[in-house]
Amino acid sequence: MVTHFPSTAISCTEAAPCNVQLVRIGASDSENGYPDSATPVLRNVHISAQLVEVFLEIARENTKKDLETCGVLGAFLKEETLYATTLIVPKQESTSTSCQALKEEEIFNIQNERSLFPVGWIHTHPSQTCFMSSIDLHTQYPYQVMVPEAVAVVVAPTDKTRSYGIFRLTDSNGMSVLGGCEEKGFHPHPDSADGRPLYEQCSHVYVNPNLRFEIFDLR
Ligand SMILES: [Zn+2]
Ligand SMILES: [Zn+2]
Repeated sequence: MVTHFPSTAISCTEAAPCNVQLVRIGASDSENGYPDSATPVLRNVHISAQLVEVFLEIARENTKKDLETCGVLGAFLKEETLYATTLIVPKQESTSTSCQALKEEEIFNIQNERSLFPVGWIHTHPSQTCFMSSIDLHTQYPYQVMVPEAVAVVVAPTDKTRSYGIFRLTDSNGMSVLGGCEEKGFHPHPDSADGRPLYEQCSHVYVNPNLRFEIFDLR
């Protein structure tokens, strides 16, 4: 099934950058108090302002049953900006605290046919707060190896303080810890000596109200 959202909005993907109100997510590293000298210069990522809302709707049946839902974001590159215009909802297996994509070749096929960058993933926490679990950090790692700008969007409808977050592994700490960790399942990761977090809120992501995206629901 392929659906276009928003169906009536003008597609801005042809004439980027658009003259629209963009909302930048998160704060820069220096504003966080964690200047990260290992961070490469990241290209900006635009996501649709409807993405979270539409994904919650897609996830609704699972959320009612306290099951997670996951999806993969594909983006095209134009003038050094990545536009996340494709949401692929793969066949999947989930619990209340985890979600595993099945038949990943179906995801790759769609991305390859359209020359899309795997720019990250989105998943729900139906009953947990908005954070990155150790399993989430491991899921994020290969995305960020492939595309340094890749993001993890966590949607937590029951979290009263933050209903969604857009995260990435820190380059100086998260990438090296996760790259060297062979554990599976939920497990603690060592704190770094200087207190640097393993992940951070993205400061290179913009919420674009006019960005059109399409959905491939493979379930
Ligand atoms: Zn999670
Ligand atoms: Zn680990």
